[in-house]
Amino acid sequence: MISVVEARDAILNRVRPIGVERVDIASAQGRVLAEDVHATRNQPPWDNSAMDGYAVRAADTASSTPDAPAELEIVEDLPAGYVAKCAVGHGQAIHIMTGAPVPEGADTIVRAERTLRVDERRVRILQPVEPGTDLRRAGEDLREGDLIIPSGMLIRPAEVGLLASTNRSHVSVYRRPRVAVLSTGDEIVDVDEPLEDGKIVDSNGYALTALVADAGGIPLRLGICPDTQETLERSLRDGLVADAIITSGGVSVGEYDYVKAALEAVGTSMAFWKVSMTPGRPLAFGAIDETVVFGLPGNPVASMVTFELFMRPALLKMQGYTHLYRPTIRAVLLEDIAKSLGRKQFIRVTLERRGDTFFASRTGAQGSGILRSMSIADGLAVSHEDQEFMKAGQEIEVMLLGGYSGLSDYRNY
Ligand code: AMP
Ligand code: MG
Repeated sequence: MISVVEARDAILNRVRPIGVERVDIASAQGRVLAEDVHATRNQPPWDNSAMDGYAVRAADTASSTPDAPAELEIVEDLPAGYVAKCAVGHGQAIHIMTGAPVPEGADTIVRAERTLRVDERRVRILQPVEPGTDLRRAGEDLREGDLIIPSGMLIRPAEVGLLASTNRSHVSVYRRPRVAVLSTGDEIVDVDEPLEDGKIVDSNGYALTALVADAGGIPLRLGICPDTQETLERSLRDGLVADAIITSGGVSVGEYDYVKAALEAVGTSMAFWKVSMTPGRPLAFGAIDETVVFGLPGNPVASMVTFELFMRPALLKMQGYTHLYRPTIRAVLLEDIAKSLGRKQFIRVTLERRGDTFFASRTGAQGSGILRSMSIADGLAVSHEDQEFMKAGQEIEVMLLGGYSGLSDYRNY
């Protein structure tokens, strides 16, 4: 049986970015850029005023004091969005608004607070201003030709703004993987089907679809397949249109666990079957041509935890991400936890922050069918293979699950 790290390495070595598409920048948020973006011009394109005030010649203000201000002639009113018709000559000023291009002849801006308007045509400057004051220089944000966003960078709102400011309406990004989701089991019925004796609702199909979407993938629901090899093979073939297939259930060694045989029958080259971990020991990974296949365990917690550990990083890598893992924090354990020696265990925990320290407690019983424990959990505490016992007071590593808000509870700003 291979370790969690070996399994993850085998998966991540097998997957790579799956291709590129062009998208509108309005929908590029959360995607990874697949080209270098250079500035096509200077931004701002020209020197402009950083303040509402007056564009003047600094030399004209050199001897200004509140008692003996320089008095300048106002030759024009210049709102943002227009270019001055006049130049600023000696003894002259142009009334200028923030963002308007600095008029010819002027070498500085005097902000309105440092002036006294006498009438329509005259303004007094109450103190000297250095040349270049309150100016935004051409190209201070972007210089024509500069590499402003390198290929491989995640597009966040700031990058969307940068792309717009260099007039890029469309960009190349890595494609989002299509992921076929298949639930297996004679006992599994869909959410709105009658629940006859012995049947259970397909919670995995829905939870895994949500996890795929949350990881940036495009889920394709293949529905529920009964436990026969023939129907499983048919469903798997349907899934080959996708970049990845996830099945849940049917991968253990039970009488009706046909997923392995069906995968082999449709030509999957299997990389491994079992990973030394709890929950989630049966976990199959392989590939059919270009489609990677993950056979997740049927137990609801096990399927979600194995998705988090293996599928999510793989889907992120397929989209060009370089940061593939959930963030982790250190926390102090509030209770003793016994575990089985030799296996890495992922324990669902809630976190509580007191001052600068996080404390972790189990979500309760850790049965891998107890889905509510995933709902309650803020993270997964990681115990190592060689540990047999984790003690209260011990520091442990906790992988944060998506949506954990405890880091933002304390507002220090
Ligand atoms: P299996 O791996 O097929 O033996 O399934 C292990 C356990 O997970 C059984 O109790 C199944 O009923 C349950 N299970 C399997 N598939 C699903 C599913 N799609 N939704 C909820 N529970 C499931
Ligand atoms: Mg089953």
